[in-house]
Amino acid sequence: MDCIFCKIVAGDIPSTKVYEDESILAFRDINPEAPVHILVIPKCHISSANEITEENSSVISHIFECIPKIATAEGLEKGYRIITNIGEDGGQSVHHMHFHILGGKKLPLKLA
Ligand code: 5GP
Ligand code: ZN
Repeated sequence: MDCIFCKIVAGDIPSTKVYEDESILAFRDINPEAPVHILVIPKCHISSANEITEENSSVISHIFECIPKIATAEGLEKGYRIITNIGEDGGQSVHHMHFHILGGKKLPLKLA
């Protein structure tokens, strides 16, 4: 499959990993929009959060169990933001579901 993030999971494209286990991977965004900008992805290909089903949703809870540990390791005790973009209007550019962890500064509230 021609998917950048599947290639990162496979190790065919290098990434700066911050967390990995059997079902998920977290790595630094190549184009950070905050001092800390990490992407958390399931290793299995799910196109977006709009494709979450009863069959694949256990990896979602696992991601959200791991995010606080990643945030703590990154020193985000003052807070952070989790974002997932969905589809064209949501601004999704990579069609392998990912959760952005953004932090390390006071983030603006308004959408551009
Ligand atoms: P989206 O716009 O789909 O919500 O977010 C995709 C994110 O993936 C962007 O923030 C972009 O910078 C990041 N990204 C795209 N290609 C790569 C890559 O090859 N490596 C890494 N580390 N991040 C990438
Ligand atoms: Zn993929």
